[in-house]
Amino acid sequence: MPEMLFSGIKTLKGVGSAKAEKYEKLGVKSVYGLICHFPKNYLNFHCNVPVCDAVVNEYNCFRLKIKSKSVPQVTRNNNMIYKSVATDGIDDITITIFNSEYSFRCLKVGHVYYMYGKVTENLFGKEIISPVYIDAGEKNFIQPIYKLTQGLTVNILRKDVKQALSIMKNEPFETLSENIRHKYNLRPLMWSFENIHFPESEISAEEAKRRLAFDELLELQLGMLIMKKRAKAHTAFKMDESVKISDFVRGLPFELTNDQKKASFEIIKDLCRDVPMNRLLQGDVGSGKTAVAAIACCFSARNGVQSALMAPTEILAVQHYKTLSSFLEPFGIKVCLLTGSVSHKEKIELYRKIADGEYDVIVGTHAIIQKDVEYKSLGLVITDEQHRFGVAQRAALAEKGNTPHKLVMSATPIPRTLALIIYGDLDISIIAQLPKGRKPVLTYAVYGDKMRVRAFNFVRERIKEGRQAYVVCPMIEESESELFAVKSYAENAVKKDLKGCTTELLHGKMKPAEKDKVMQDFREGKIDVLICTTVVEVGVDVPNAAVIVIENAERFGLSQIHQLRGRVGRGQFESTCILIASSKNEECLQRMKIISSTNDGFKISEEDLKMRGPGDFFGNAQHGLPPMKIADISCSNELMNMARECATEIIEDDPLLEKPCNTSLKMDVIRLFDKDIIG
Ligand code: ADP
Ligand code: MG
Repeated sequence: MPEMLFSGIKTLKGVGSAKAEKYEKLGVKSVYGLICHFPKNYLNFHCNVPVCDAVVNEYNCFRLKIKSKSVPQVTRNNNMIYKSVATDGIDDITITIFNSEYSFRCLKVGHVYYMYGKVTENLFGKEIISPVYIDAGEKNFIQPIYKLTQGLTVNILRKDVKQALSIMKNEPFETLSENIRHKYNLRPLMWSFENIHFPESEISAEEAKRRLAFDELLELQLGMLIMKKRAKAHTAFKMDESVKISDFVRGLPFELTNDQKKASFEIIKDLCRDVPMNRLLQGDVGSGKTAVAAIACCFSARNGVQSALMAPTEILAVQHYKTLSSFLEPFGIKVCLLTGSVSHKEKIELYRKIADGEYDVIVGTHAIIQKDVEYKSLGLVITDEQHRFGVAQRAALAEKGNTPHKLVMSATPIPRTLALIIYGDLDISIIAQLPKGRKPVLTYAVYGDKMRVRAFNFVRERIKEGRQAYVVCPMIEESESELFAVKSYAENAVKKDLKGCTTELLHGKMKPAEKDKVMQDFREGKIDVLICTTVVEVGVDVPNAAVIVIENAERFGLSQIHQLRGRVGRGQFESTCILIASSKNEECLQRMKIISSTNDGFKISEEDLKMRGPGDFFGNAQHGLPPMKIADISCSNELMNMARECATEIIEDDPLLEKPCNTSLKMDVIRLFDKDIIG
């Protein structure tokens, strides 16, 4: 691999500081970074329509002959407008180009072009705005579409990419052996870099994407497997199997479900080995993961070591602290709460007691893994709602203390194929069944104003009966989009939909103390309706809340709606989830149908995966994976499974990627994780 690939983008001829800054905006810093700025999509100029069939306000592609060009106009704020008239042989259309003299100059009267751009319509007819075009005589009909920024046109980008590729080709390299490429039917790497940017056909573009996505998934998986291997190479505190906890289990306020028992059993078995546990506990919302965590803490405490439980938010930390202390304190196990909002003085005191081993279980936010917290003997670290913690944080935790056993809990059910990739560094326990007697949450999707009014009538009815409700909106600040902004929404709602109810706001921009206060008031029943953003998504537990309304439901992923829905149905009351959707397109209807028809989180995530493809999961920041360049746009289940199989084979043969044939691959893994996870 040429060293030059990793030098700054300014290495390229014709790229100066101004352009480099624009590239920076796209996240492109190096020459290699530019090569990895892959097209979002491709345009096939073969698929063109007659002007009469153009869809107004959408992007359309035409085959047009230029009839005439007008004199450029200057607008009041010194913008140039270039217009010309073209025809498809029957109808005319105006071509409007803003500011790009070059683009206008290249158009020749009498010539035929393929043009792609947004079409608008006014009194004078149809207009195509700043189209991308190619000469009709051009052989290559496939043109990539890139994420661009002001002043960086597709033509400039293509020229620079070409130059970057030629640097790369000076010293061609390949990450995969002939064997592997043959086995998985993959194109060579250099060919793929070239064809993803300059494809000969749609098929070449697909093949190039497939190869590059395979590499990315493979590297991700290799990194995970190496982390897993490395973690297992450490030694951990080996607990004593003969330590009894049956009295504690009997003392819980409920009988454990079989899945809870099985998960607890798997965890205890791990704790009794000198290899650190590295386990994911996956269980739907309300499946009772906290009880399993409590059992693990109890077992550890009775083995004389401390446990730490880390939650992603203060609200959750407080809640866990309450639950765990109510379970554990009666058995003489001391629990404390350590969060960012504990005063300095209290903190010093807590630190001392933790260091002295006065506390057995330490509950908190990420404050508990900060450097100044010293444990007497940290044996077990539990993180809740794992998808909020990145792989990097997972790795940081592993370095804390004397390689403690680690348990991560996730309430986001993920299809197995995906879980194996995203949590490739972990072993997995699953709680699939909910505790007995849980009433499923009734879910309805409503559209239109009339049904909306009825929905809120229902909400007020339930509040009159003494229940409480959540209303979830997608955003907090007012924005130009039509999304309901929670603040102005709340003001309106109080006047209309929720007239007569006590309401309070809860959103992510509030200070922790403010949030706690609101949550506390809601828990104590002082508030009827909590109007909130997705901050309530994770783990909040208020059994009297029996209704949740989700505004703009079409904006949320299925799994996220399922999470939100899990906030209700936690007590003895029948609970309802109302999804208010403002779109009635087919995909939206289909999604609403899925979510209304089942309460099984794993099933929902399978459906979600089927409908959206794995790409969406990789494109979503919540999973905490390193940023993916291509897997989010080009990834299938099949490809994912192949990458996994391939990674396993490579690691079996060369556990730390030390063989010369794996050097390029190793460098790529380190680059992907942005950290030397191997050395
Ligand atoms: P989650 O898995 O979402 O974290 P929790 O641990 O918060 O779920 O449990 C949800 C509720 O179910 C809690 O109120 C808890 O007390 C209760 N619960 C847990 N396990 C059982 C069980 N086996 N039987 C009945 N209720 C249970
Ligand atoms: Mg929970």
